Amino acid sequence: MEDHGIECDLLVIGGGMAGLSAAAWAAERGARVIVVEKAAVLGGSAVLSGGVFWTAVSAEKMTLYGGGDPALGRVVFETYPEAVAWLRRRGVDMTPRLDVLHGQGYQIDIHGYVRGCAALVEQHGGSVVLETETLSLIQDASGAVVGAHTRHADGEVVVRAAATVLATGGFQASPELRARYIHPNAREMRLRSNPVSDGAGLRLGQAVGGEVAGFNRGFYGHLVSESRRWDDERLYVALSQYHSEHALLINEAGHRFCDETLGDHTNTYETLIQPGARAICFWDARVHEAYATVPVVSIGEPLDKMRTAIENGGQGVVAATLDEVAAFADDQGFDGLVVRATIEAFNQAARHGWETLRPPRTEDWRPLDKAPYYALVVHPAITFTFGGLTIDTGARVLGVDGTPVPGLFAAGSDGGGAYGHGYAGGLALAMTFGMTAARTAGWA
Ligand SMILES: Cc1cc2nc3c(=O)[nH]c(=O)nc-3n(C[C@H](O)[C@H](O)[C@H](O)COP(=O)(O)OP(=O)(O)OC[C@H]3O[C@@H](n4cnc5c(N)ncnc54)[C@H](O)[C@@H]3O)c2cc1C
Repeated sequence: MEDHGIECDLLVIGGGMAGLSAAAWAAERGARVIVVEKAAVLGGSAVLSGGVFWTAVSAEKMTLYGGGDPALGRVVFETYPEAVAWLRRRGVDMTPRLDVLHGQGYQIDIHGYVRGCAALVEQHGGSVVLETETLSLIQDASGAVVGAHTRHADGEVVVRAAATVLATGGFQASPELRARYIHPNAREMRLRSNPVSDGAGLRLGQAVGGEVAGFNRGFYGHLVSESRRWDDERLYVALSQYHSEHALLINEAGHRFCDETLGDHTNTYETLIQPGARAICFWDARVHEAYATVPVVSIGEPLDKMRTAIENGGQGVVAATLDEVAAFADDQGFDGLVVRATIEAFNQAARHGWETLRPPRTEDWRPLDKAPYYALVVHPAITFTFGGLTIDTGARVLGVDGTPVPGLFAAGSDGGGAYGHGYAGGLALAMTFGMTAARTAGWA
């Protein structure tokens, strides 16, 4: 390979939330930064998101709901105020404070944020290069990472850098890695994120001795209805059934299989591991009015989730009686008689004996007995992976012996372990670890 070499202080691989945050933070402090992005546009999943920048409101809630390594969760929680202060200083548009799931945050102008990060990099003498593959990382004789071999339409370029940040956004777009690290059923799982993040950060990091975090099968996703146009990313939010946490989830054999009230993202994993990797989501008129037609974050648009699902090819029914629900379940290949018995038994226990519910309901055990009834076939869809390269609280990539691979950092979904069974914000995870990586690399 010809060495058309260029030099910089910081090389960032991946131009989404984590990478651009690391790049802009370092550039603002005087670093010459090069960002290489594989796609033709910047922003990755961040620009598909609603830009709700939120996290848990206490370290205890982070541990309870995030369920990952408490030390890494604390980095998100403790860096968040500084991240918000940086957004304000830079004049990024933000709403007033919002309640979001079990935390709080703001909706930010995510497109403006992404553009602003790229502008900061360029103002400080760096560059942001699109449609560029990273072939491999370069190590010096001591094993330190000192840059990367990259390939662009114009040819191959060696980028030499004092520090390198992996920020390619996780491995959710790789069916093989999903099946290997999450669950065999995950091979066929629908993708509700940018389609480019297929585990490049993991592969690049492992090739220079980085360890893959011992392995966290968790992921963030939602239950979705079937769709004729699943490749239309504008439907990701519209077809997500966030209200499953107030509904019942019933498998093909007709049984409940999880505590639905722990949250739709937890229900997504529980559904994935059921035979057939699907479920009937059942709710009643009360839940419909209170949750299935109301946006999950107060600034969203109201939307009737059943109507939207059916209009887009989903299999669902609005039924006057449980007999109709049972007939629908049979048509869809579920055991309708058992489905009906499960709903009746749930309602009976919910009225007289919530403590006998199995699986239990931690947050909401009210009966679902107000007609009309709603039954929708739902499937798991993945947004980003929780497992990744093992990192420390400074975002350094660790080797199998637990010591850092010098010069190498991972941020956002490329860094594993901050979340475990649950979740407290993807943008916050990416931005706080991006800032942390840049700081540890010397740009405090
Ligand atoms: C529909 C949707 C809604 C969401 N809503 C929210 C929300 O409201 N709040 C929230 O907190 N989170 C939300 N998220 C999650 C959030 O967007 C992600 O958690 C966050 O963007 C992850 O940041 P990241 O930098 O790790 O990945 P990304 O932002 O996806 O960036 C990764 C980048 O790396 C690039 N890349 C991939 N492979 C390579 C390679 N080999 N070389 C170079 N570049 C590469 C990708 O093209 C991409 O630009 C949502 C996501 C989606 C899809």
